[in-house]
Amino acid sequence: MGRSFVYVILGGGVAAGYAALEFANKGVAHGELCIISDEPVAPYERPALSKGFLLPEAPARLPAFHTCVGVNEERLTPKWYKEHGIELILDTRVTSADVRRKTLVTAAGETISYKFLIIATGARAFKLEEFGVSGSDAENVCHLRDLADATRLVDLMQASTGGNAVVIGGGYIGMEVAASLVINKINVTMVFPEPHCIPRLFTPKIASFYEEFYKSKGVNFVKGTVLSSFVINPEGKVIGVNLKDGSYLPADLVVVGIGIRRNTSLFEGQLTLEKGGIKVNSMLQTSNSSVYAVGDVASFPVKAFGEIRRLEHVDAARKSARHAVSAIMEPDTTPEFDYLPFFYSRAFLFSWQFYGENLGEAVYFGDFSGTSFGAYWVHNGHLVGSFLEGGSKEEYEALAKATRLRPAIDDMSDLERQGLRFVVTLSQKQPVLPIVDVGSSTSLVVLEKPEYPWHAAAGVVAAASIAAFAYWYGRRRRRW
Ligand SMILES: Cc1cc2nc3c(=O)[nH]c(=O)nc-3n(C[C@H](O)[C@H](O)[C@H](O)COP(=O)(O)OP(=O)(O)OC[C@H]3O[C@@H](n4cnc5c(N)ncnc54)[C@H](O)[C@@H]3O)c2cc1C
Repeated sequence: MGRSFVYVILGGGVAAGYAALEFANKGVAHGELCIISDEPVAPYERPALSKGFLLPEAPARLPAFHTCVGVNEERLTPKWYKEHGIELILDTRVTSADVRRKTLVTAAGETISYKFLIIATGARAFKLEEFGVSGSDAENVCHLRDLADATRLVDLMQASTGGNAVVIGGGYIGMEVAASLVINKINVTMVFPEPHCIPRLFTPKIASFYEEFYKSKGVNFVKGTVLSSFVINPEGKVIGVNLKDGSYLPADLVVVGIGIRRNTSLFEGQLTLEKGGIKVNSMLQTSNSSVYAVGDVASFPVKAFGEIRRLEHVDAARKSARHAVSAIMEPDTTPEFDYLPFFYSRAFLFSWQFYGENLGEAVYFGDFSGTSFGAYWVHNGHLVGSFLEGGSKEEYEALAKATRLRPAIDDMSDLERQGLRFVVTLSQKQPVLPIVDVGSSTSLVVLEKPEYPWHAAAGVVAAASIAAFAYWYGRRRRRW
């Protein structure tokens, strides 16, 4: 017994929601499309889990952050799917796939067949066990990838007010959670092996700015070491952690944010993989022409960089999903996917955006003791990346536009002198280009409450959180 659909989206996360919206916009017929997800709820804006969801007062809760509220589009509640004739097959794990036969088999044994498949299986959080440390299944140790994790974290935070939390990992999840814990009146120690936070994006100078701010909020940083074991009481609760440098930290709560692994296993041996993800072309099509891959699980050609990359950005998930649907439904008129990597973050009173890549030499501008500063990255004589803290909407747009142009830089001192003026002037001279939209910065209204002027420190280009543990126990992981 089984069901058959024209289009199947495997995975029910951010990319799935945006793909569904695009299918609806393009006029999919009732009964043609289904989403299969092992989560119990319709697709939602995952970044909310480390932001509005963790607020101590008036926290964001579903249905407020179902996709596609993240870019001020329609909010796709279960009712919306019903009205559009899109079947949500929830709480259902797909356990095997056969791309030759175009079938998926669920844990309950149902076979679901498709004409076109979009793989949107995202990723899962690494566990310490994968690095030889046991104990992360204890009741007061948390990861943060899905709604169940976030709900558990909220319960633990509520039970730990005034207590001690240890955050393992200095990537974006670690930084976001540390801010949330502080807001929830918990003492925080962050432990990571690198010399500074968010090492894949931040330079020491940028990191130092944010770390100083976190310190002013009481966060303690323990750098250059890693967790070696949990200290667990007879009731099975973690009461502290031992670090490899020999020190001990008491803990009422431990949050582990050490990176993610792509959910590719169903397709290994069937589709071409690259850089840890499922390789797609500029139409988001895999090595099997009926199968597309989008979001975190996809490795796609980033034209601006001239190579295949796999990003872990919500913006990339949204846009790749929509593009794949367009490529499936309107193959003759859909252009190649031309994406400029974009990431944003808000923490405490700060807010920043990053475009392009952080390659080459960094040139700083603005006031690092004030509220607005930034950096450009210049590689082989071209501006390839840009970062701005505290910019206006127009300034971020200029930043995106100019970075996409990859302008030649002859004089680094002049670039430094001009600072933000450089991109503003350049963008005014240029015709309007298809830039990455910065909607995400204005979009998370429901997810990030203005009365709490903190938000999550976010991630970086390609696997910042993995980088945070790149040197875990001296074992260098492959950098994707
Ligand atoms: C807490 C948190 C905060 C974040 N904050 C930011 C941020 O501020 N900025 C930013 O750019 N990015 C952020 N991200 C990253 C962003 O959320 C991801 O890039 C995005 O969710 C990727 O979308 P996706 O659809 O590819 O994967 P996901 O959203 O992870 O969805 C994958 C879905 O597939 C399901 N699935 C997997 N395997 C199966 C299977 N075999 N059967 C059935 N279902 C399956 C999963 O359960 C899940 O529902 C954050 C991520 C997290 C976890």
